[in-house]
Parts: sequence; C-alpha cells; structure tokens
Amino acid sequence: MQRVGIIGSGFGGLCMGIQLKQAGIEDFTIFERADSVGGTWRANTYPGAECDIPTSLYSYSFERYDWPCKWSHQQVIRDYLEHCTDAYGLRPHLRLGTTVVRAEFKERSGDWIVTCDDGSIHAFDVLVSATGQLSRPKIPEIAGQRRFEGVSFHSAEWDHGHDLRGRHVAVIGSGASAAQFVPEIAKDADKVTIFQRTPNWMVPKRDREYTDWQKTLARRIPLLAKSRRARVWLQSDILAFELMRKESRLRPLATKGALTYLRTISDPDKRRALTPDYPMGAKRILFTDTFYEAVEEHDVDIVTTPITSITPTGVRCADGTTHDADTIIYGTGFHTNDFLTPMRVTGRGGRSLADEWSDGAEAYLGITASGFPNLFFLYGPNTNLGHTSIVLMLEAQVRYVLSALDQLSATGIDWIDVRPEVQRRYNDELQARLAETAWTTIEDSWYLQNGKVTNNWPGRTTEYRRRTNRCDLTDYAVKRAKAAR
Ligand code: NAP
Repeated sequence: MQRVGIIGSGFGGLCMGIQLKQAGIEDFTIFERADSVGGTWRANTYPGAECDIPTSLYSYSFERYDWPCKWSHQQVIRDYLEHCTDAYGLRPHLRLGTTVVRAEFKERSGDWIVTCDDGSIHAFDVLVSATGQLSRPKIPEIAGQRRFEGVSFHSAEWDHGHDLRGRHVAVIGSGASAAQFVPEIAKDADKVTIFQRTPNWMVPKRDREYTDWQKTLARRIPLLAKSRRARVWLQSDILAFELMRKESRLRPLATKGALTYLRTISDPDKRRALTPDYPMGAKRILFTDTFYEAVEEHDVDIVTTPITSITPTGVRCADGTTHDADTIIYGTGFHTNDFLTPMRVTGRGGRSLADEWSDGAEAYLGITASGFPNLFFLYGPNTNLGHTSIVLMLEAQVRYVLSALDQLSATGIDWIDVRPEVQRRYNDELQARLAETAWTTIEDSWYLQNGKVTNNWPGRTTEYRRRTNRCDLTDYAVKRAKAAR
C-alpha cells in the first residue's frame, strides 16, 4: 500500500490525484496552502486574466467541458478545475489552507516526513511536488518604494477593493500578465503609464465565442472535440515550436506578421517603444486582441527609461522625469528559478534541495533529482514550454509517476533514486540542445538563471511524452528499506 503526498492543487496536483484514483490508489493527500484548488488559476484574478493557449488543449485530455470561448478566462478555467475536483472525488483528499514547510527523507524507514505550518506531521512513501513555476509573486526592490503614498500591489495579488476609476496608474513590467490587465484597467483609469524594460512580440489571438450549436456538437460528438484538440496540438508542436529555435526558417514570416499587427498603433513613438530588438521566440510570444487597441484608444503611455526610484507620488526615471501615480501595479512576474523554495526539502544524508539547486535547478526528465528518492516533480526544472500547453507535459509526468508506483508495488522495491550519472548525462544533453534555442539569444528572462536555461524543455511535447512514457528502473538505484521496519 503506497501512501502518496501531493503538494499543490493546480493543474498538476489535481491531475496526479485523479490518476491515482483511476489507478485504484486511495491513500493520498493533496496539500494546498490556499483555501481552494486551482493553483495559478485561483491566484491570478487580475482583470483580463485568461489563458494564452486555446482551451481545447489547455485542459485535461480525459475531461471535456463546455468551453464558452476558444481561449478561456481565468474564472472559466478555475470552474473547470473545481468541476474536475468534484467529478473525480478529490475533495476528501484535500487539505486546504495547509502549507507544507518541510519535507524530509528518512533513509532508514524510506519515509518522507512532511511538516505543515499547522504543526501537523505526515509520513508518505512517495512525495509529489506540484507547486508550479509561477506561484511566488516577485516585487523588485526599488529605492523609495516604502514611502509611496498611494496603493500598490502585484498582479497576482490584485487589490479588488481599490477602485481604479479616475486613477493615474503606473504599471511596472510589461509581460504576459500586464498585456492582459492593461487593456482592462485602461478603460477605467484616467491614465496608465507602463514602465517597460523589454518589449514583447505580440500576435493577434482572434478569440471567439463558441456558438450554442458548436457546443452541442462538441458535446454530442466527442470526436469533434478531440480533433479540435489534436489540431491545436499539431499546429503548436510543429509551427510554434519552430520559433523556439535559434535559427528558424519560420521566424522572418512570423516577425513580418507581428510587425504588421504592431502597425495598428498609429503613434510612431509608441510603435518604436513596443518594437522588440531580439528574435521572436526568445521570450514568451504574447497572444492578445486588446493590448495594442488599448494603447491606441486610451491614455496609455510607454516609458522605456529605466526607473531609478519611487517617490511618495510617482515613479522617477533615469532621465530625471517623475511620472505622477496614485497606484502602482507590479506586473513583474514570479520567482521562477528557485522552484520549491521556501519549502525546506532534505534528501539522503540530509542534503538540501535548495543547496543542490543553488547554481540552477536540474532534474532527470524534470521529474526526479538524485539524492531525493521517491520524490517526483510535476512541472519541475526544464519542463516549461514556450510554444504549447503545459497540461501535455503534466499528463506525461503523472503517467511517469504512476509507472514508477506500479513497478514499486509489483517488485517490492521501496524506493528509487535516480543515478547521478543518468541525471548528469541527461542535463548535459539538455543544455547542449538549449544552447541552440532562441532563449539563449537574450541576456535575461525568467527562463534563465546565470545564463543557464533552467525552466524550459528544448524539444517538442511528442518527444517528451515518448521519453517519459515509462519509468525505466535501470535509470535508478533501488532500495528495499522497509522490509526491515
Ligand atoms: P513576466 O513575463 O516575467 O514579466 C515580468 C515583467 O516585469 C517583464 O516585463 C519584466 O521585464 C518586468 N520586470 C521584472 N523585474 C523588473 C524590474 N526590476 N524593473 C522593471 N521591470 C521589471 O511575468 P508575467 O507577465 O506575470 O508572466 C509570467 C509568465 O506567466 C508568462 O511568461 C506566462 O508563462 C505566464 N502567464 C501566462 C498567462 C496565460 O495566458 N496562460 C497569462 C499571464 C502569465 P523584462 O522583460 O525586461 O525582464
């Protein structure tokens, strides 16, 4: 009987729970620090929050849904995850409002001992981390920040009680989140000033609502929904993937298309400010139907001069200008490189995961790390994608974990620990391939740590799924520890 602990109840953690149940494993607990499930889709409630991957693919392959639009809004995805939680009977397994602060592997017993912030302590045979890569908001330290007299908050901690009507809003950062909330807040605010460090490549999303008959057809003919999913998958894994390469034959054409879209902005200064000077694909390409429109139609300014400080009433830049603001919204992203931190994870011989990963996180297939037996990561190092749905990767990882569990119970092995040389070889291969991607053509992005790509997978999802199809125990050192208990 395997006792499984899962940390996090976003797409990954819920998928793990569902598939454990489907496999007949009932002894599992999902720890969630928040009071409800949904992960990033619970946390990010900023106006305009939506998915930049079509929902037919940004959803579980095994659970269809009546999607209202081609691309879904945050609340719709959150509802879907709540629906899955009920449909697969996960509620009794949830421990909501409980933060795991420590996870410690006991070599003698082979147990993972998990300590929570409420003081409770739990023992598991297998621990699955599903904490996501984008769960800890990052607010940069800027001189004078604390003296600001207005209201400030991060996009992932939106202050819904703060009415933006008539406000002068400073938006720091211009990534995927800002591109979604700026068009919404620009409708209410008197003025929005975006402080942009790096412009983004943007392409039109062309979102549309599904008509009632389209929804009915998809409900009645499951093959239709499946073929829609397959089409989006193929398009992204073949075409969009091309743009992730350093040398891409598709890039000139895609760049031309994006620049044509940019020309919908009439002000040449704004257009210039929003024109990227790096290869398309080096950072996340943003899909939007509304951002350029908002810049064109509302009082939205783009400031590209670096910020030097925050004054009590605004934001000061390196050229000496101060831009008045009564509200500052940080669209400055997340702590993406330190993965499970601040949770303290210790493995064999008391080694600390944070120390092991201090120069850049790495794992075998993004799922296991040497010295940390029976610990599995979902959406771990080098499994993020720039071109298609992360749910494809999560499902592959969950299948891999199940394959491991299956073999553990079939063979009487108590724990497995990936061989260091296997992990080394895999990561050497990965880094050599990552050097050929567009992500290494720029100095900084959330994919990089000290110049090393720690977050992204360099291949197509088809390759990843093939390589994770089955857990090969020859990659692992195995131990039958509990027989002695
Ligand atoms: P982000 O893409 O990391 O963008 C952060 C922004 O803040 C960037 O413009 C960055 O500039 C800027 N910034 C960071 N530190 C700064 C500083 N000290 N001073 C000035 N500017 C600073 O974060 P995000 O927009 O929250 O998105 C993160 C990721 O979440 C996305 O890449 C995407 O994967 C995911 N996301 C997905 C969706 C979706 O539709 N599924 C929606 C939102 C977010 P630089 O570019 O120069 O670093």
